Amino acid sequence: METWQKLLSKSVVKVEDLPFIPKDPAYQEKLKKVAEVFPIRINSYFLDQVKSADDPMWKQVVPTLEELDDFIDRHELLDSDPLNEEGDMPVPELVHRYPDRVLLMLNNQCPIICRFCTRKRKIGFPGIVTRETLRQGIEYIRNHPEVRDVIMSGGDPLLVPDKELDRILGELRSIPHLEIIRIGTRVPGTLPQRVTPELCDILKKYHPLYFNIHFNHPDEITPEVEKACAMLADIGIPLGSQTVLLKGVNDDVEVMKALVHKLLKNRVKPYYLYQADMTMGTDHFRTTVEKGLEILTALMGHTSGMGVPYYVIDAPGGGGKVRLLPGTVIDHTDKEVIVKNFEGKVFRYPQPVNGRKKHQPIEKHLCNA
Ligand SMILES: *Cc1c(COP(=O)(O)O)cnc(C)c1O
Repeated sequence: METWQKLLSKSVVKVEDLPFIPKDPAYQEKLKKVAEVFPIRINSYFLDQVKSADDPMWKQVVPTLEELDDFIDRHELLDSDPLNEEGDMPVPELVHRYPDRVLLMLNNQCPIICRFCTRKRKIGFPGIVTRETLRQGIEYIRNHPEVRDVIMSGGDPLLVPDKELDRILGELRSIPHLEIIRIGTRVPGTLPQRVTPELCDILKKYHPLYFNIHFNHPDEITPEVEKACAMLADIGIPLGSQTVLLKGVNDDVEVMKALVHKLLKNRVKPYYLYQADMTMGTDHFRTTVEKGLEILTALMGHTSGMGVPYYVIDAPGGGGKVRLLPGTVIDHTDKEVIVKNFEGKVFRYPQPVNGRKKHQPIEKHLCNA
């Protein structure tokens, strides 16, 4: 079996080597302009999963001319940093947006470069995250006792070599107030060979450690990926998934249902389903919010509750994640709440008479789909 380093070193990074693209030289010249702005990377394991032009794997990693459309016909809210992460960085490459947790970027490299990446501005450009930014990030956490949860992100933290990862985890674990460490990664689903016994021996020293693994389509879950997830679950790491709702990839009830079922079978709990961000160069991947609510409606009650992720909009400009629910509360007064179940049947729930406070508001859900 080839090592993950070898599979990564054989990545497609040039337009000429892209799978299933038109041979037309004029088209390829235009694609090269796209690749100058947004680099290409498809590692050789993932390349094998791309079976034809326009399939869900192809769409995630092969650039198209649409990526430059946003620069021409510019949507006012599209931005290279739609979540204003740079505005929430007290030190370089550490985002402190919520009171008790931070996001720490370990690198700018990924096993594949997703065409819809929310950090398109950084990924594949080396030298943004450095040893020095990382040192400052860890120092910041050490000096901020309110930080009890760190999310290691990037890039992909699992592309950091074993020895360095061991050192970083060790430094974080030496901070007494840091309770949990999370790793946000796309590695188990796109370069599963990286999950080695040696890596597991390192990771298991640093519990409580949680993983959030990026998965978008059931076809990503190959036998190799199942093995990688099992190795991680067997060393006691709770596994969650994060999925981006993507036009033409997974904006479909049956695809999403197959994905969450396959995840649960592999001990991965669907955690977040993200409405696509307003990222420059990715507008063609966005769906309507109704599509997300439709998918949630088709899952809630119809399948294991554990398989239903939180559907969120990460608010443009840095407002943080906001959860959306299809309309389950039809009406409420201080006497009763009217709710709708998964079959569309309506029920009345009377409020307690004694505990009732006058004018006590009950949050109405944002959407009444
Ligand atoms: C998503 C995110 C987190 C973690 O959010 P949880 O809801 O706790 O999973 C933390 N910081 C930033 C900047 C984030 O985008």
